[in-house]
Amino acid sequence: MNTTQGIIFDIKRFAVHDGPGIRQTIFLKGCPLRCWWCHNPESQNPAIEKAYKSYKIEDQEFSEEIEIGRIVNVADVMRVIRKDILYFDGSGGGVTLSGGEPLHQPDFTCELLKACRAEGIHTALDTCGYAEKDVFMKIAGMSDLLLYDLKLMDDELHQNFTGVSNEIILSNLKLAIGLGTTIFIRIPLIPSITDTEKNITSIWEFLSELKGISEIDLLPFHDFAKSKYRRYEKASLIDDIEVEPSSNIQEIKETFEILNIPVKIGG
Ligand code: SF4
Repeated sequence: MNTTQGIIFDIKRFAVHDGPGIRQTIFLKGCPLRCWWCHNPESQNPAIEKAYKSYKIEDQEFSEEIEIGRIVNVADVMRVIRKDILYFDGSGGGVTLSGGEPLHQPDFTCELLKACRAEGIHTALDTCGYAEKDVFMKIAGMSDLLLYDLKLMDDELHQNFTGVSNEIILSNLKLAIGLGTTIFIRIPLIPSITDTEKNITSIWEFLSELKGISEIDLLPFHDFAKSKYRRYEKASLIDDIEVEPSSNIQEIKETFEILNIPVKIGG
C-alpha cells in the first residue's frame, strides 16, 4: 500500500475541461504564484486552513467554520480513481492533477503519477511550470500530458500580476519539449492583462521557436470565482479585473493557428 501523503482540497469526478475525455481531477493544495485572476484561491496556501463560510437564510446572515484541505495518501486517492476507470477507458480520459500547483507537493504528485501509470491510467499534469528544474524534469516526464500555463511574457508584468518572475517557467517549458510528453499550452485570456496584442504576439513568437506543442487552449476569463473570495473571506484582486470577456478571442485563435498547431477555445 502506498502511504505517501499529500494535502488535497477537492476531487472532481467526470471533469471534461481538464484534458481529453472524461477525467477525474485531483486538486492539490499549495501554489507559489498569486495570480490576480486565480479561480481557486482556496488552493494557494499549502497547509490545511480554517475558513469561514458565510451564507444567508432569508434575511439572516450565518457564518460557519470549515476546513479547507485534507491529508490523504496515494492508496486512498487510487481507491477513488479506480471507481471511474470504465469512463476513462470509454472516453479516452484519465486523471488530471491540478491545484494549486501539483509540483508544490513533489513526492505525493510523483507517487500518484507512478501509481496511475502502473495501472495503465492516462495522466495529465496541470502546471504553471514554476518549480526547480530537477523536480520539474522528474515529474513532468512521468505524466502523459502536460497542461502548461503561459500567462505573460513581459517579466515585470508577470511579477506584478502573479507575484513571481516567468524566467523559470519559460526555461522549464523549453526543457519539457525534449521529454517526449504531449504538451498542451493553456493561455488564460484576462481582459487588458494577458489578452493584449503585445502579449499575444510575444507568446506567438516564443511558441514559434518551439517544436513539439500539440495543442493551444485559450481560456476565456470569467468571474465566477468572485463569490469564492467572498465566501472564504479572502483578499481579492479579481475585483480589479474588467468583467467583459476578451472581444478578440477569434482573432487570437486565428493568430495561433498560423503556427499549424490545433487551437481550442476553452480547456
Ligand atoms: S498558478 Fe493557478 S492556482 Fe496558482 S495562483 Fe495562479 S491561477 Fe491560482
